[in-house]
Amino acid sequence: MTEQHRLPYIGRFAPSPTGPLHLGSLVAALGSYLQARSHQGRWRLRIEDVDPPREAPGAVRSILKTLEAYGFEWDGPVTYQSQRHALYEDALSRLRDRNCLYACHCSRKIIAETHPGDEPPRYPGTCRNKDLLHEQSTTPRSLRLRTEDTALSFNDLIEGLISHNIYQENGDFILFRRDGFYAYALAVSIDDMQQGITEVVRGNDLLDTTACQIYLIQQLGGTAPGYAHLPVVNNTEGKKLSKQSGAQPLPFTRPAKQLCHALSFLGHSPPPGLAEVTVAEFWQWARQNWQLKQVPTKPINISALPV
Ligand SMILES: [Zn+2]
Repeated sequence: MTEQHRLPYIGRFAPSPTGPLHLGSLVAALGSYLQARSHQGRWRLRIEDVDPPREAPGAVRSILKTLEAYGFEWDGPVTYQSQRHALYEDALSRLRDRNCLYACHCSRKIIAETHPGDEPPRYPGTCRNKDLLHEQSTTPRSLRLRTEDTALSFNDLIEGLISHNIYQENGDFILFRRDGFYAYALAVSIDDMQQGITEVVRGNDLLDTTACQIYLIQQLGGTAPGYAHLPVVNNTEGKKLSKQSGAQPLPFTRPAKQLCHALSFLGHSPPPGLAEVTVAEFWQWARQNWQLKQVPTKPINISALPV
């Protein structure tokens, strides 16, 4: 048993308020909730509103209403990244003091031109040694973290051992954006660390960002949580379900049916009839029968699932 498992379990669900919850978000909420409850752990709810240009009006209210209707019970108050800027600023100043940060004037377009074909393009380190941080300038600039050219490994509870060289694969990544907002990588890492999250259960569309988050937490002297990346739900064209790809908002009628759908997607076999019960009865069955090891690494075709 590792040190991590002896800690009281604290999990979390952290939606971005870009639109109402859909089946893809329900899968992440359900997986993280059942994993926390099956460890007698706590489950925190965090609204990742760190990117105002992408926010949809009314989305926070809709997310909270939906989670309540589906019987999710979170521990403690809902946290909002928009109210945590002082923590992010403090982390940036600690990194700045240790010379781990540098300012970069390069636009996305310029970086894409120097690395055609890469998606997202790897940052080539153009401004690494320019010392723009202390220069008085009105040119928009981002802040990047200096990374090392070594592999970082972590054991994902679903995907297995992952080895990632951030410097080679991403380049020095952004912590503060040119448009004046904190980067997701910074906010999510600080929040997971500061809230004492012991295990992150989320969609595997975020697997590629995990090494950067672990690296940043280590740079700040923290202990990274464990990770379990769930398969993501794709639409019929094979694209990840999202507001942009036309995902339907979760209905308020028959929530147990949608919950059964999400649980089946995660490799479980709810008995016939569980789709018709109350949410309380659904959760009772789900908590007793949840096994992370049943979760597949490859997404299941949702049209093949029992309805
Ligand atoms: Zn640059």
